[in-house]
Amino acid sequence: MGIFTCADLANLFPNRYIDRSRFYKIAELNDNALEVQLVGRITSVQTVAQKRGSRLVAQFADETGIMELVWFRGTKWIQDALKMNTPYVIFGRVNRFKGKFSMPHPDMELLAEFKKSLRGSLQPVYPSTEKLSNKGITNRVVQKLMVQLFQETNGRFKETLSPGFRKQFGLVTKDEAMFNIHFPKNQELLKSARFRLKFEELFFIQLQLVVKKRTRELKIKGYVFEKVGDNFNSFYNEFLPFELTGAQKKVLKEIRKDFSTGAQMNRLLQGDVGSGKTIVAVLAMLLAMDNGFQSALIAPTEILANQHFLAVEELLGKMDVKVRLLTGSTTASQRKVIHKELEEGSLDILIGTHALFEDKVKFNNLGFAIIDEQHRFGVAQRAKMWKKNVLPPHILVMTATPIPRTLAMSVYGDLDISVIDELPPGRKEIRTVHKFDQNRLSVFRFLREEIAKGRQVYIVYPLIQESEQLDYKDLMDGYESISREFPLPDYRISIVHGKMKAADKDFEMQRFVKGETQILVATTVIEVGVNVPNASVMVIESAERFGLSQLHQLRGRVGRGADQSYCILLSSQKLTSDAKTRLRTMVETSDGFRIAEVDLKLRGPGDLMGTQQSGVLQMKIADIVKDRGILELARKAAFEVASAEGGSANAAYSEIWDSYQMISRNKSLWSKIS
Ligand code: ADP
Ligand code: MG
Repeated sequence: MGIFTCADLANLFPNRYIDRSRFYKIAELNDNALEVQLVGRITSVQTVAQKRGSRLVAQFADETGIMELVWFRGTKWIQDALKMNTPYVIFGRVNRFKGKFSMPHPDMELLAEFKKSLRGSLQPVYPSTEKLSNKGITNRVVQKLMVQLFQETNGRFKETLSPGFRKQFGLVTKDEAMFNIHFPKNQELLKSARFRLKFEELFFIQLQLVVKKRTRELKIKGYVFEKVGDNFNSFYNEFLPFELTGAQKKVLKEIRKDFSTGAQMNRLLQGDVGSGKTIVAVLAMLLAMDNGFQSALIAPTEILANQHFLAVEELLGKMDVKVRLLTGSTTASQRKVIHKELEEGSLDILIGTHALFEDKVKFNNLGFAIIDEQHRFGVAQRAKMWKKNVLPPHILVMTATPIPRTLAMSVYGDLDISVIDELPPGRKEIRTVHKFDQNRLSVFRFLREEIAKGRQVYIVYPLIQESEQLDYKDLMDGYESISREFPLPDYRISIVHGKMKAADKDFEMQRFVKGETQILVATTVIEVGVNVPNASVMVIESAERFGLSQLHQLRGRVGRGADQSYCILLSSQKLTSDAKTRLRTMVETSDGFRIAEVDLKLRGPGDLMGTQQSGVLQMKIADIVKDRGILELARKAAFEVASAEGGSANAAYSEIWDSYQMISRNKSLWSKIS
């Protein structure tokens, strides 16, 4: 469990507490008293043979009656250890068996020892594993170790928070907190211990992030783009195809400000699918160009890179800007031209896939790199972009996965975050419905009507790694039944899935993009960014098996044209309560941030895309969903401490900075965050 030292053990916090303030008498037992504590003596023990092996049964008596204690495992060892006619405190679940009360595998302690222990009436239950308990490291054993630890160390811990700071935020001392988290005498003390420890944990994470952010702002020099020149202005005034939304203007302003500070920009741009991130990227690239710099735009797949290229070409077609596309399919001779233009500086904007990260790709003067859909790229890859010029280029990471504020604060707390939280005007809300499988025929009827109007349809099947074979079969069965329902020559169908070769996938995809097929049957490969404005219906099969963010991303594939779009969630009738919540949320809202919040609540932070590796969320006691208020407070405190005069030499915060040093020395994970 990652426990190697006494400090590790002391920091193993209970996940719950059992209230043991009450003692029962045997005569008081009833069917509602589930977990009870009693004092009594063992009067006799016997081994009873059963089908396999044997069980150990002890008669346990107090002054009001007799009950049974039963063991099914470890019986020999237990029989030897039991003391007859000696007072024990026992605790556990009771059942009534043939009219008699019995307690299987009770938690037992001699009354004499019980009286000596440090424990209050709230008994800690420590996190454990089945393997550990089977090897005899039970909760009782951990409790005993903890008592011993506190006795041997006198319960003294290094204080990590300065006195004035503790006072300001109402935090008890480290010693008090540590004692009361393990041996709380009452709920009040437990509460203040928990608050202190959660605050401390969140605070040091925030302090790391805030310091990192400040250091970057102060130390990592970046190019200054001070000019707003001809390219930006003529595009803005003559070729902008629509008025920018308020949110787009706001984000552009934030980027322009970053360009002018002399520090390297490291900005995350969040905007729901269809919120219009592309135009912001294009305008920012024109600014780079006005200042004599080249830009790169990198997408996770070839299809996406292609689409970006087409979109940018269309926007900039009438301007004197040279844009090229570089992907895995670019031929050697095309590559040669691109490399040459890049190096001599005549190429202004290079769009492509991870092919751009290669060392062979050398820029004359790269000043700005945009990375779309960030979670598909590793940190190491992104770091490669840094080395492509003397100073690192400004970096803008664009993502369509909305990240709830609390999570963003914890995981990306050292990045600057921009949000496009407003859709372009005139968008029609996508109508979302949930249907059970047996209504499939009426769904098909509806699809025929839409196709008759000239629309195109997506039908998506789940593909989950663990059950890949089964899913694949589902997909193929589905494809067959769709082919029967929508026969040639009236209907043409594309199919795209993970087992296909990239070239075949592209070919099928392109047929749909060009409108040659009306239906695209696919697994989730279409999740990211594909833009087919004429597709107006998204059918999601076995929708109960998809996560919320995936459902939301999939729905974002439609609603891109002028027509009313639909999303149909098909599911079986057997739904877990989480699945019901997910489907209901999809029907109720299309706000990506609201959906992300629900997702975070349902799944907890550990599971969310891209956060597993960060390590930031492997917290001992705090929980960014439940402790949101403490998180906000801790972040505020971190800013206060980090910006206090004198920095880490500020005497009022010396304990904090000492601890900070210790933590930074012990952890490498922080370097991986951004
Ligand atoms: P995403 O954020 O998903 O990348 P896009 O940049 O592809 O979104 O924009 C989605 C669509 O919205 C595009 O067709 C784009 O031309 C259009 N669009 C973007 N901004 C505006 C706006 N301010 N007014 C009208 N349409 C816009
Ligand atoms: Mg996009």
